[in-house]
This record gives sequence, C-alpha cells and structure tokens, in this order.
Amino acid sequence: MEATFDLIVVGGGASGFMAAITAAEKRASSIAVLEETSKTLEKVRISGGGRCNVTNACWDPRELATNYPRGEKALLGAFSRFSTGDAIDWFEKRGLELKIEDDGRIFPKSNSSTEVIHCLHKASKASGIKCLTGVKVNTVKKLSNKIFQLECQNKQFFFAKRVLIATGGRPSGKKIANDLGHQLINTVPSLFTFKLNAKWLTSCSGISVDKVRLKLIANGKQFEQFGRILITHWGLSGPATLKLSAFAARDLSLDKYNSNLSINWVNKDFNEVKKLLESYRSSFPTYSIKKYYPFNDIFPRRLWFAFLEKLNIEKNLKWSNFSNLKRDLACKYLTKNQQLIIGKGPFGEEFVTAGGINLNEIDLKSMESLICKGLYFAGEVLNVDGVTGGFNFQHCWTSGWIAGRAISRSNN
Ligand SMILES: Cc1cc2nc3c(=O)[nH]c(=O)nc-3n(C[C@H](O)[C@H](O)[C@H](O)COP(=O)(O)OP(=O)(O)OC[C@H]3O[C@@H](n4cnc5c(N)ncnc54)[C@H](O)[C@@H]3O)c2cc1C
Repeated sequence: MEATFDLIVVGGGASGFMAAITAAEKRASSIAVLEETSKTLEKVRISGGGRCNVTNACWDPRELATNYPRGEKALLGAFSRFSTGDAIDWFEKRGLELKIEDDGRIFPKSNSSTEVIHCLHKASKASGIKCLTGVKVNTVKKLSNKIFQLECQNKQFFFAKRVLIATGGRPSGKKIANDLGHQLINTVPSLFTFKLNAKWLTSCSGISVDKVRLKLIANGKQFEQFGRILITHWGLSGPATLKLSAFAARDLSLDKYNSNLSINWVNKDFNEVKKLLESYRSSFPTYSIKKYYPFNDIFPRRLWFAFLEKLNIEKNLKWSNFSNLKRDLACKYLTKNQQLIIGKGPFGEEFVTAGGINLNEIDLKSMESLICKGLYFAGEVLNVDGVTGGFNFQHCWTSGWIAGRAISRSNN
C-alpha cells in the first residue's frame, strides 16, 4: 500500500489551503492537497475583479452572520472562533498587507489577488504541504475505522487518515460526500444580476443610483433590499441587486427567474415626491422640466429623460403645465416602478452557489462529519453562502481554520 497521509485535502481553493496550512502549522504532519485543474487558487485569482476582496471590516460576529442568507445562525459560533479580525491577523502575520476601503471591503494593499495566492503558496510550502495538481478525486472510501482510500481519475490511489472536502461549488465533491452518507441540499445560483424586459431602462446602461429600495415577490414571498444599483444593457446589477438575488435565490429559482420587482428610485414615498414636484411647479413655473428637476442629486438627467419618455411626458414642457395627472404618474413611477424579471444576467455573473452539504450533519466546532468520522468539510461545498463584500472568502477562512485546527488536535 502507498504511504498514508495524515490529511488529504480534496480541492486546492481558498478553504482547502486555509485548512491544510492551519493543520500543518499547528502540528507537523504529512498533508497533501489534491487539485483537479492545473492551477490551485484559481478563483482567488479572478476574484474581486483581480483584486480579491479578502474579507470585510465587519467586526461583530452577530452582524457578520447576517450577511449569509444560508448559514446565518450556524455561523455565529464559528465566527466567535475565527472572525474577520483573525483573518486579517492571519494574513498580515504571513506578510500580506491589507487595506480597508470606505465601504468596509478589505483588499490586498497591492490591489492584486496574486499577492493572496503568493501568501497562501508560501505558507503551504513552508509547512511542507504536498500540492498535486491535475489530480481529480472521483471517489473516497472508508477502508477501515482509520483509513480512507481516494481513487482519482487517472486510476491513481491515495490513502489518508483524514479527508477534508473543499471542492467548492463543483458537483464532484458533493457526490463524494453523498456516497459517504451525507444529505445534499440542492444547489442553485446565488449573487446574480436581473434580466429585465425594459428597453427604455437598459438604454440607460452605465448609470448607477445609490439609494434605491427594491422589493421583490418571488414564490409568494416578499424580499426587500436597499442600496446602490447599476443599470446594465440587460437589466440591473450593483450591490443591492446582488444582495436581493442572494436572499431570494431559492425562491427566484422556484419562480424560474420570472418574478415581480418594484423599484423605488428615490427612496421617498408617493406623497413626499408629490410635494417635491409641486414645489417645482410653484417655484419654477416658466422653466422646462428637462432643465430643472428635483432629483438631480439622485440620478443623472439621462435617466430623468428616460422616465419622461416612458410616461409620454414631453420633456420641453414648462413646470406650470405639469398637470396633476402627470405629477401622479411620475410619483407612481418613481416610487413604485413595476418591472418583470425575465431571467438571470449573462453567464459569468454567478459568483457562488446556494446549497450543498447540510450543516445539521456537521459538528461546527470542528467541521467534522457527524456521519463519517475523519471526514471534514470547508468552504463553498457547505450549504453556506454570503452576499458580496468579502463574506464568501471569510467563510472559507473561518471554516478552513476551524477544520485545520480540529484536525491538528485530533488523535491518530
Ligand atoms: C468571478 C468570481 C469572483 C469572486 N469574488 C469574490 C470576492 O472578491 N470575495 C469573496 O469573498 N468571494 C468572491 N467570490 C466567491 C469565492 O471565490 C468563493 O466563495 C470561494 O472561492 C470558494 O472557495 P472554496 O475553497 O470553497 O472553493 P473553490 O475556490 O471553488 O475551490 C475548490 C477547488 O476544488 C477543486 N476541485 C473540485 N472538485 C475536485 C475533485 N473532485 N478533485 C480535486 N479537486 C477538485 C476545484 O478545481 C477548485 O480548485 C467570487 C467568485 C467568483 C466566481
């Protein structure tokens, strides 16, 4: 029989590396990371537009947990063990300089994800971890109480005392877990943009509006988000849209991505907007509505024109001729603009998957399976996903660290 590793990590992504390094640094042992593709940490490389949003300056574990549509309560304990501040310390101790941006997102000071990769590679090398690429694990069998056998695509076999599955959103890791007795929660995409059937709006692509209130009805449930949206040539993107897609991911999927969205463009109610429009009518009666409009600090003229055109209101109209009927139409459109979502944005906009290994089957203090002793999990393979802002990587660091520490403490 081949040499038996103390630990084999299946999947060379963020969570797998964090687990392997933690286990190795805390107790010298023989550890291998098996990666299917030719390169490890590929998602880290492309993340955050090549800058890698490593984590978030959200320091309170309770508040931090609210950023996870799946996993929220279960993560409370995990974040009390290894949170955002611990992740920052961890990376800085290993030479990666980080910076906090105004919105709380944390990036490498160099603005380059390769620095994160370099840091993880250096730490894994220093702790003697064997990293093998081009090795796809097909099946994992428990041969005895203490030994796992991993069969790879090229008919190569590996043996290990413990196995950690860190295969991300890919199906193969979930199949391995399923074969070992784990229940799977079906996966659906999360963090995507909305495709709308609204040419008048998509012609304004590139415009972003900061304080928009979005209300969505999906599968009979109501979801709400507030924040910045970006108009794209297919519909809506931006942080508020992505967050809404994450919290409504399952219900949108059940609705086949055909759901009703209501947009309040100005974060004001009907009567507030009515008063504002009336004040313009009385203050600027001889001015055209195209030149003076009450929302120029909220959105640019191009979007105002698009609203007017959609409402069949002549933009050269003087405020004195802005009838009550037009006023009410505009109020309704600005505060309750009804749109039909007709699908998800183009491929490539899906950042994470919702679903995966059921957390009820895992001891969250160690990330060890409650079904198969010696089997551990970390990262996106679990039924945990976060909104944008560095929260998904934070979950990888947290779950990877907890698993690595528990493995280093476990008896042979
Ligand atoms: C474009 C994009 C940008 C993102 N930006 C951010 C960001 O800025 N901040 C943030 O917090 N999150 C971001 N995310 C999400 C984040 O990348 C993921 O949550 C994170 O990478 C998950 O890490 P993981 O280790 O669980 O899985 P992965 O990174 O997916 O790693 C799993 C690895 O396992 C390998 N593997 C799978 N099956 C097998 C097998 N059977 N045998 C061997 N190897 C296998 C895969 O090839 C892969 O390398 C982004 C995601 C995308 C797609």
